[in-house]
This record gives sequence, C-alpha cells and structure tokens, in this order.
Amino acid sequence: MPDIATISSIIGSVKAATDIARLLKDSNLSLEKAELKLKLADLVGALADTKLQIAEIQELLSKKDQRIFELEEAFQFKDTLIRSGDAYYDLNDSGKAVGQPYCMHCWETKHKAFHLHNEVGTTLNKVCPSCKTKYQAKQTQLLRVD
Ligand SMILES: [Zn+2]
Repeated sequence: MPDIATISSIIGSVKAATDIARLLKDSNLSLEKAELKLKLADLVGALADTKLQIAEIQELLSKKDQRIFELEEAFQFKDTLIRSGDAYYDLNDSGKAVGQPYCMHCWETKHKAFHLHNEVGTTLNKVCPSCKTKYQAKQTQLLRVD
C-alpha cells in the first residue's frame, strides 16, 4: 500500500526528471547524439516511474475517502442504538430499546448495524448475516414498544 515512502519516491523521481531536463536545457545541444538519447531515455523512465507512483497514491486516496465516508456514516449512527441483552436496538422516543436486534459484534467492532436472523433449523439461536456470530435467541429478542 502506498504511503509516505511512496510520496518520497515520487518526489525523488520528479527531481531526477527535473535534473535531466535541466541538463538537457543547459547543454545547448552540445551533447553527443548518443548521450542525448541516453538522457532522454532516463527522462522518460523517471516520468514513467512518477506516473505509476501517482496512480498508487490516487488509489490510496480513493480508499481513504471511502473509509472516511464509512466512519462518518457510523458516527452519525452512533447514538441511535442501545444495548439490551446480547444485542443492540433502535431507541424509541422514550430512549428505550425497541425493534429487531442488531449484531453486537459487528456494532462494537465495525460500527455496522446488521439485523440478526433466526438460525436455519432452530428457534434457539439467531445469527448475524455478516460475521456469522451466533446468539441465543432469548438474549436477542424482538423488543416491542410498551
Ligand atoms: Zn455480525
């Protein structure tokens, strides 16, 4: 994954390309043709490296934007759930837990709210569709408004 070292590498590649371009400019075409071709090849190589490294940074920024979006979404949702038994629930107007249970594991580790489902073949357990954690149904019941 690209990081500060990649940015330092990009700066190094740009500096190398700049140095080569400066040398070519300052040479007043006094370089031999073979040497000129070699310097131009170095310049193209430095620019190609820079292009690849910038693409890595672009991908990293995109991933970071996605992660920031997920965290902002989780933060807005943060105070809307309350724990009861082994699950989290929506709050009613009185601040009481109500409705279908959400997975405690997913909420506490990833701030993602997934409703629990009945485990196939039994009414004793509920299971999270995302992390597959199982919960005792009696600890994760549907809570109705009184
Ligand atoms: Zn889960």
